[in-house]
Amino acid sequence: MAGVGESTIVSNATNLAKFMKLDQKGKVLAEYIWIDGSNGLRNKTKTLSEAPKSVDDLPEWNFDGSSTGQAPGDNSDVYIRPVAMYPDPIRLGENVLVMCETWDPDGTPNKFNYRHEAARLMEANAKHKVWFGLEQEYTLLAADGWPYGWPKGGFPGPQGPYYCGVGTGRVYCRDIVEAHHKACMYAGINISGTNAEVMPAQWEYQVGPCEGIDLGDQLWVSRWLLHRIAEEFGAKVSFQPKPIPGDWNGAGLHTNVSSKEMREEGGMKFIEEAMKKLEKRHVEHIKVYGEDNHLRMTGAHETSSIDKFTWGVADRGSSVRIPRACAREGKGYFEDRRPASNADPYQVTGMIVETLYGSLPEEKFN
Ligand code: ADP
Ligand code: MN
Ligand code: MN
Ligand code: MN
Repeated sequence: MAGVGESTIVSNATNLAKFMKLDQKGKVLAEYIWIDGSNGLRNKTKTLSEAPKSVDDLPEWNFDGSSTGQAPGDNSDVYIRPVAMYPDPIRLGENVLVMCETWDPDGTPNKFNYRHEAARLMEANAKHKVWFGLEQEYTLLAADGWPYGWPKGGFPGPQGPYYCGVGTGRVYCRDIVEAHHKACMYAGINISGTNAEVMPAQWEYQVGPCEGIDLGDQLWVSRWLLHRIAEEFGAKVSFQPKPIPGDWNGAGLHTNVSSKEMREEGGMKFIEEAMKKLEKRHVEHIKVYGEDNHLRMTGAHETSSIDKFTWGVADRGSSVRIPRACAREGKGYFEDRRPASNADPYQVTGMIVETLYGSLPEEKFN
């Protein structure tokens, strides 16, 4: 058995391809995906007797929550309820990826089901047609946990040539990035671009604009695809906000936001109103903007201070940036630069909508 640090790839692509081509006899594989008790992803495969036409055709399922930190051992069943479905770029054909919410046996959302509340907020404020575009930064690590392509036990040259770089020694592991971009497109995820980041082996892709809860669903499935694809290349994906201490950029989840009112003529008035509301609830936002974010938000490396809310036009050192083009046109969107790369997009987008439009009365479950 391979220990920590050794490669665990035992796959043989040629052999596997023979079997992947076998006829499924009309049946379909559904990969059920959910979020576990530590902000990670889990999945298991269900054989369906026919292809689902919509997410409503997919049955509820369950798993052992005591093995994922989501339930006690003596009452361990957690239910997974399908909420979104995508064509599967790994298995192809009619096979699907299924994003799920987690529910407890007593009919209440699991403690780690942050989607349910976010979806309620989106639904209640649907008339504002809130769009989100998230910039997901991440770092690729070799099996030993050191950034992919970095000298073993050492460091590459200082930052500068890597951001949006091209060429050997400037970019690391582009194969995974290309494969992931195409896989997201195949799945129907609204991936709007990718780029190499400031720290070598760090990358970014953007998902959006997507309206309401759709953003969280798509971003979580895109993260699952990234892990799944990197697994085939023997690399690990890290969403740590500050993977390497020192003079190396951290990783964020910049969150671009607009409402219908902000996108229309004179929208800047609504963006400025939003700034006042965001300022008042800075602390609440930071609480759900990712663990260890204080290691990243130092005020250096294109971040703001974690303690203070600031905003400005074209200012990459403020909490929120208004893009120059939006300021010029007097309408558009704003970029909340505070969320860390490991933040949960359901909580981030839910919190923003709550701050802009108010909280909801508590839900009653019977
Ligand atoms: P940056 O200049 O900060 O690197 P990117 O180009 O990486 O910006 O990402 C910008 C994101 O903003 C994209 O995901 C894009 O889809 C999203 N976006 C563009 N217009 C809007 C809008 N009106 N509302 C919300 N998101 C938007
Ligand atoms: Mn970007
Ligand atoms: Mn970036
Ligand atoms: Mn950005």
